[in-house]
Amino acid sequence: MKKLMTALLSLTALAWASRKLMKRFPPEQAAADQGATGHVLAIADANADGVLTLDAAGRIEAANGVVRTLLGFDEHELRGRDLRVLLPQLAWSAANPEGVPSAELGGFWQARCRQGDMIEVEVTLAALPGTRSNGGPRYVCVLRDAGERRAQDEHFRHQAHFDMLTQLPNRMLLADRFKVAAERARRYGLSMALIYVDLDNFKQLNDSLGHAAGDEVLETVAGRLLDCVRQSDTVARIGGDEFAIFLAEVERADDAEVVAHKVVAALARPMTLVGREAFVTASLGIASYPVDGETLDRLMQHADTAMYQVKAAGGNAARFFSTRMESGILARYSLETELRHALANDQFEVYFQPQFSLASGRVVGVEALVRWHHPREGLVGPDRFIPFAEESGLILSIGAWVLETACRAALALRAAVATDFYLSVNLSPRQVREPYLSESLDRVLADLGFPPQALILELTESVLLGQGEGTLAALAEFRRRGVRLALDDFGKGYSSLSYLRRFPVDVLKLDRSFIDDVVEVPAASALVDAMVMMGHAMGMSVVTEGVESAAQLAHLAAHGVDAVQGHYCAAPSPAAECATCRAWFDLRLDTVPVGAEAS
Ligand code: C2E
Ligand code: MG
Ligand code: MG
Repeated sequence: MKKLMTALLSLTALAWASRKLMKRFPPEQAAADQGATGHVLAIADANADGVLTLDAAGRIEAANGVVRTLLGFDEHELRGRDLRVLLPQLAWSAANPEGVPSAELGGFWQARCRQGDMIEVEVTLAALPGTRSNGGPRYVCVLRDAGERRAQDEHFRHQAHFDMLTQLPNRMLLADRFKVAAERARRYGLSMALIYVDLDNFKQLNDSLGHAAGDEVLETVAGRLLDCVRQSDTVARIGGDEFAIFLAEVERADDAEVVAHKVVAALARPMTLVGREAFVTASLGIASYPVDGETLDRLMQHADTAMYQVKAAGGNAARFFSTRMESGILARYSLETELRHALANDQFEVYFQPQFSLASGRVVGVEALVRWHHPREGLVGPDRFIPFAEESGLILSIGAWVLETACRAALALRAAVATDFYLSVNLSPRQVREPYLSESLDRVLADLGFPPQALILELTESVLLGQGEGTLAALAEFRRRGVRLALDDFGKGYSSLSYLRRFPVDVLKLDRSFIDDVVEVPAASALVDAMVMMGHAMGMSVVTEGVESAAQLAHLAAHGVDAVQGHYCAAPSPAAECATCRAWFDLRLDTVPVGAEAS
């Protein structure tokens, strides 16, 4: 291939020189006018190669400027001299007493520079058909700096095999290395493993912080991945935010798991991005050779399936491929089609879960939680499909449907219980950035007449991560209309108190993980105390979710939390089952401080 390219390039130069020569010096005239070849060389200066014309005896008639750049000789120093002044290894006179060989000549030769040193050049020498000089054919000789060529080849080779941003091998080089390793593995019965790494929320981060920050993340991730593997392993970048780690020799399957967990831990360390601390996690899927597949494609496919399962469970972990997964609901492509179908076929349903005030013990609000009635899998929770809906953009239509359906159901419930309570609706980061949300908000507020002060939009911290002007403006606009904002899962992700200062929310919803051991672990309790204090100091009300026991409830009530939500109080129920939801309004938590009833 390389040879062919070289030949083609040289032939192009020759054809070019020949055409110019023919144009300026018709054959009969050329024989008479040797000096005129200088004009040809002037034109040949536009060429990146050194070009010389020779008479039939191999004497130089003219040389273009590139020859000077390449070898240091001026044209007048060369005129009339044998080409062997430049290419001493040529031995045509001896081999061919008639002068320059009639056959064409090419290849790599040592050329002498004016200072006496030698450089390697690629030479193409050919007779110019139809021209004559000194009783024989005129020749054109093209010299190309082979060093530069090699560097260029090397550059192209590098470009073809490596990712320009991270300098990691690309898919092509990975395939090459796999082929070689698979040969060995087959012969000696070795095991290998492929780990598929996909960053969580990268698109979001890229959109909110900008591409430069996105690139920085990818470079940092590349460095951290390399730190987790041995020299003999390959870390490749195979897509935007997708990497593959190929372990060419593993003794036991556990080895791959060890590497995968190392990667999860390495990526979990904070990064500094645009002067701020950020967290980037990844979902990893592992496939083993030969059990999960014997070709790279098959292994990639299976590692990808495992990776998606991790992603659906919230990301930031690693998992082995198992054949059961393949037929599971989470097979990525069918999932997207099925989600589309679900929307068209009314398979989603909104559930409500009540929130109780700890001051009065009464229901003060409900959170809308979406569910999917999957035709084969039964009831599927949002954690298993919201990430896909986000990625595919389907979240926009699903989210709009949830908002409208929840508002309608809440209006019906308000009428049935004649009580003022608020409705919380979860929003994905992607929804917040789209004008679409503003439109669906208009619809529920204006068309349905839902009272804006009874609506709370729940956002996660990742929405605030970018703080793009558009996002901030959209959120400010919602608040201006009287809608309140809650920060969901607070303390779980990108938490930074400074976000809160710059970004006003009305409700702080502490992440479930703080509540889990709040009774037993003093540190967890101290954290909850701190967050409650801080939230109150900033004028927010503090809600906790995931309350599963009486002890937790009592603890939270004693520590100033404003409202609670959790299975201990009431599990989510279908919003349409009005009777069930109505019953909540008759409940009263029994941890209410004495005397609260009166106030
Ligand atoms: P979230 O907003 O933090 O919702 C609270 C989750 O905790 C719900 O899970 C709820 O069922 C669960 N939960 C309630 N009480 C308890 C408890 O006592 N113990 C435990 N272990 N869990 C409890 P669910 O319904 O599976 O929703 C998971 C997440 O999916 C939600 O977390 C929310 O982030 C997201 N989500 C739900 N519905 C929607 C939606 O319509 N749109 C969007 N964008 N996200 C949604
Ligand atoms: Mg929520
Ligand atoms: Mg939450």
